[in-house]
Order: sequence, then C-alpha cells, then structure tokens
Amino acid sequence: MDKLAIDGGLPIRTEPFPTWPIFGEEEEMNILETLRSGKWGGTNRRCLPDLEKKFAALQGAEFAIPVVNGTMGLTVALQAAGVKPGDEVIMPPYTFIATATAALLFGAIPVFVDIDESTLMLDIDKVEDAISSRTKAIIPVHLAGATINIPKLKEVARKHGLAVIEDAAQAVGAEWEQNRVGALGDLGSCSFQSGKNITAGEGGMILTNDKQLAENAWSIANVGRIPEGAWYQHERIGWNLRMTEFQSAILLAQLTRLEEQFDKREKNARILNESLKDIKGLVPVHRDPRVNRHAYHMYMFRIEKDLDEQIPKDDFIRKINAEGIPVLAGYHSLNTNQAVISEIEKWTGEARKYECPISERASKNQILWLSQSVLLGEEKDMHDISDGLRKVVASY
Ligand SMILES: *Cc1c(COP(=O)(O)O)cnc(C)c1O
Repeated sequence: MDKLAIDGGLPIRTEPFPTWPIFGEEEEMNILETLRSGKWGGTNRRCLPDLEKKFAALQGAEFAIPVVNGTMGLTVALQAAGVKPGDEVIMPPYTFIATATAALLFGAIPVFVDIDESTLMLDIDKVEDAISSRTKAIIPVHLAGATINIPKLKEVARKHGLAVIEDAAQAVGAEWEQNRVGALGDLGSCSFQSGKNITAGEGGMILTNDKQLAENAWSIANVGRIPEGAWYQHERIGWNLRMTEFQSAILLAQLTRLEEQFDKREKNARILNESLKDIKGLVPVHRDPRVNRHAYHMYMFRIEKDLDEQIPKDDFIRKINAEGIPVLAGYHSLNTNQAVISEIEKWTGEARKYECPISERASKNQILWLSQSVLLGEEKDMHDISDGLRKVVASY
C-alpha cells in the first residue's frame, strides 16, 4: 500500500483545483459601464430591470425581487407571507445557519424537523408532527443543488394553512420534475454570496408567482414603500435591502456562464459517481430521479453507515486533505446545536429539545463535501480525487 501523505508519503495531487469566482470581459465591461453611467442604485438603474426579467425567466417564476443577500431574501419572504414575531417556522437543522436566523431576525421561532436519511433534506413525513397552533410556515432547503419534493410538501402545508418558503440559496437552475425551484412554493430565496454557483460577492433574489406576495416582498425590501406610491410614502415596516447596480452588473454577466458551468458540474459528478462504485465504504448521496437537474452546489458523498465507526470522518478528512484533495466536513454542527438557538429560550421561557438523530449522525460521522468550483475541473481532476479517496480508504 502507498504511504499516506500525512505519514510522509507522496501526495496524490499537488496542483491546485479551479479557483472561484470565474469572470472575464463580460463582467469587466458591465462593471465599468455601470461605474461610468453614474447609475449606481436607488431608482437610477441600468442593469437591475434586465436582471429581474432574466432571472425570473431562468427560474420559471413570474416575479423576481432582488435583495442584498439570500438571508434577507428569506427574512423578507417570511414576512411577505405574513409570518409574525412569535410564529413558528418548520425547517431542517442540516443547513446553513441563515435558514434559522432568517426567522430569528424578526422574532419568529425555528422549529427543527429531522432530515430524510437518503436525501439529507427535510423529512416531509415528519413535518405534521411538528405543527402547532403557532406554526405559520415551512422552509424546505434545496440542499447542495438537489431539490426537495415541493408538491408533496405543499399538500401538508395546504392542509394546515401554512406558507412554503423555499431556501433555494444553493439551487439556482435546479429542477424538480422539469420545474425550476424558487417559486414552486409561495415564495423562495436564492443567494449570490461569494461561494454560490453564480455570484456577485453578495446578493439575493426573492421569487414568487403571486402578485400580492411579490408586492409585499418588494415593499418590505424597499422601506415600506408601495410599488405605485410616492417616494416618501411608507405603508409598512420595511428594511432597505436593495441590490446595488454593481451586483446586478456582475450577475448579468455571470448568468451567461451558467449553462456551461452547469453541464460541466453534471458531467464531473457523473464521473465521481462512477468512481465511487469501486471504492468500498464511500457512496454518493442519493439523488431522487425526479431531480432532473441538479445544481451541484456541492458534491455530497458519504461514509457508509456500517463503516462510519471504522472510518472516523475527521481523521479521514485530515488524511484526504493531506493528499491534496479538498474534501470538506460541511455543516459539522447542526443548527439545533448552535449557541444562537438558545436565544429562543430567553424570549419564550420555554426550553426546547430537538431529537434529530439522522441529522446528527449524517453531519458528525458521514457526510463529505466537494465544493462546486472543484466540479469545474477537468476529467483528470476527478480521477485524482477518486485516486485520493481510494488510497485513503484503503488505509483503514
Ligand atoms: C448561502 C445560504 C444562505 C444565505 O445566503 P447569503 O446570501 O449568504 O445571505 C441561506 N441558506 C443556505 C442553505 C445557504 O447556503
């Protein structure tokens, strides 16, 4: 057996993987023209209306409302749907903290429901048990660029009069049964933060097919103005969350790269799936066949359940990283365990205890990530990854 790099052996790989973001003349031109135009924000716009139109079309939504980031997109979407302080919002714990803070920021209370073992997304069959008289909304998260079964979740939501707010931060371009996500529920939020599949450094977009919800969201993100109202007319409590023209300029250029990058990630994910077939102990995370377009914000794979004690995740990551392969641990602390969640107890005086054993075991012992930019490499890069994985697994 080859000596592991961590023990002084030769690493499988020394060259870097593709860096992120990717940009070129389109971004440069658009930024420079925006700068020179003096149309930087407010009502003075050059790119934003075009971005709204193109992004809505891209996701198959009727309305797109640009905002400063994906976190505030979720907050605004919740408020636009009528969620109030003290209301409960059902969500999974295996996601970025923003899914929870989006509710906490205005005093709404996250209620965590465990994930499905195979897809790692909200277990829809467990949602009903978590509904109380205070529940107002559900936030399903389209994790890693996969998509969750929104039609099934909507049936549960409709039965109990709840709003469905999609966290589509990681799923621009992804589809469930030929439908792009974001406006399949009542509202959804996408992110253009620096690591996301299309990025302007920061940025977000709210999507919906409902005109009233779109107007609510626009108003909440525009200091409580109303679409046809006067500049100093404010009809509700609103933030100023408008996207700048510099963000819009970059995003318009990034959109032109989306399809090509999509195809590349898909192709490389397929190569990795194939390679994992003959690496005992590692398997790709299950992709539901109805996810007919996967955005691969992350390529997620797992240490198999019956080997996750034999192959300790942290140790595995140290060894594979030493081989020059940038495998990530992902969300190693669930949102249920984050210190911020204890804030809720201070407000409500109620201690909440969540049982999410599937999320716990997945995050702590099993789930490994490769980021979307690694998936933009060449075929040889994917073979280096699988060679590294094979070498490290063989050491256990
Ligand atoms: C990135 C992300 C967010 C937040 O988006 P920002 O633009 O960083 O505020 C929310 N949810 C998930 C799942 C994310 O990955």
